[in-house]
Amino acid sequence: MVEYDVAVIGGGILGLTSAYYTKLSNPGFSVAVIEKEAEVGQGNTSRSVGGYRYGIFTSHVNRILSETSINHFREAQESGEADLSMRDVGYLILLTKSRMERLSKYLEGFVREGKGEIIKAEELRRSLRIVTSHKGDEEAELMELEDIVAGLYAPRCGQLDVEKLVMMYKRRCISLGVEFLLGRRVESLQLSPEKPLGIPREPRAWQKLTVSHVVAGGEAIRARQFIVATGSWTPELLDPLGVDCFVKPKKRQVAVVKASGGLEELLNLGGEVFKEMPMTFFPHGLYIAPRKGEKSFWVGLTDEIGRPFLLDLEAETSYYYDNIHPVLSKYMPAFSNSRPENMWAGCYSMNNLDGNPIVFRFLNCVVVTGGSGSGVMKSDAVGRIAAAAVNGQKTAILHGGVPFDISVIGVEERRVDKEYLIL
Ligand SMILES: Cc1cc2nc3c(=O)[nH]c(=O)nc-3n(C[C@H](O)[C@H](O)[C@H](O)COP(=O)(O)OP(=O)(O)OC[C@H]3O[C@@H](n4cnc5c(N)ncnc54)[C@H](O)[C@@H]3O)c2cc1C
Repeated sequence: MVEYDVAVIGGGILGLTSAYYTKLSNPGFSVAVIEKEAEVGQGNTSRSVGGYRYGIFTSHVNRILSETSINHFREAQESGEADLSMRDVGYLILLTKSRMERLSKYLEGFVREGKGEIIKAEELRRSLRIVTSHKGDEEAELMELEDIVAGLYAPRCGQLDVEKLVMMYKRRCISLGVEFLLGRRVESLQLSPEKPLGIPREPRAWQKLTVSHVVAGGEAIRARQFIVATGSWTPELLDPLGVDCFVKPKKRQVAVVKASGGLEELLNLGGEVFKEMPMTFFPHGLYIAPRKGEKSFWVGLTDEIGRPFLLDLEAETSYYYDNIHPVLSKYMPAFSNSRPENMWAGCYSMNNLDGNPIVFRFLNCVVVTGGSGSGVMKSDAVGRIAAAAVNGQKTAILHGGVPFDISVIGVEERRVDKEYLIL
């Protein structure tokens, strides 16, 4: 039976970057990616909106992970290695009075470091036709929609083509000799004694344990080390072992709205502040991601309490009409007649405690998870950290030679600030 040096379970963006940096740092290792779908990147990675935030996070760690990853993607694009369709359309985070107060120290930091600027409500009304105050609008008052007092505009943020990013890391993996076992769903991780004694009901509680193999399609796949990068499916594999992965799946839905009936103008504003509509994040969890090339808008809403932690990938059309459209049409009346052409759903692998990624080791496994709605934009850094964990190194070297103490996003000695900007 084949035994790999490292088997990566899950071929999403975090599995691919982990596989790539593991193999890059250990050219002699046999590395395999085991993916349940027929192709890599078909899990939540493919359901992502592809937004990237250059350092616009309240957590210092998230800032480092996103900035170094985005710099890496930019270099890959500029060097001609891959066209990732990166476009700095900017992020606009609209601020209510309470959000502005809660985030004030971070907002000051973003402005001081030149990462963002504060846009007045008047400018938002003028150039984007956003309704910032709902005074006198009975419906909006009934919905208790909050007024917008300003916006944080971060021009170095934007969008990339996630599929192209996935293919870039897949090509890199293939060029180094990483194997892909596609269409193979891992049913379980098998715990075995490190030193089997051949007695019944092993492993006994007093025996030292190891994950000897995984079972996929009834077949055993052995490896010396495993990387578990199964995103929001991670609890399914680790709960049966009694290992807490600290993430839960939270459903997120996206609707595609065609840019017609006056909406086209938003894609080509040509103004001084906004040349085109940026990725815009409204109060109450609503966001609009303009897709200029496709002449459409991707619209979503992140709901919290009331939305169960559940692996559910079914989009609900009623969700658009009941929840998204009422808020959308109040803040942007240009969308009043909008209807979804298409919808999909995915799940955030939510780390609800601090919103930062999690990379930790148990036995001979490294768990890589906690994308928390922004895993694509941090994926290069997280893959390097996973590889360092596999190699038993304390420090990972991120893009640009930035050293990163991997225990910071581990479990035992975790030292991260809370992320308040989960969008
Ligand atoms: C609607 C939505 C919008 C988002 N927008 C953004 C955004 O704008 N920017 C951003 O950076 N992030 C965004 N994200 C988050 C981002 O998609 C995730 O953080 C990222 O894709 C996580 O990557 P992953 O590799 O951990 O998970 P996944 O891509 O889900 O990969 C896990 C893989 O494991 C496989 N797998 C699972 N179980 C098994 C098993 N038992 N055996 C074998 N294989 C298995 C799955 O098929 C999957 O391919 C968004 C997410 C959603 C849902």
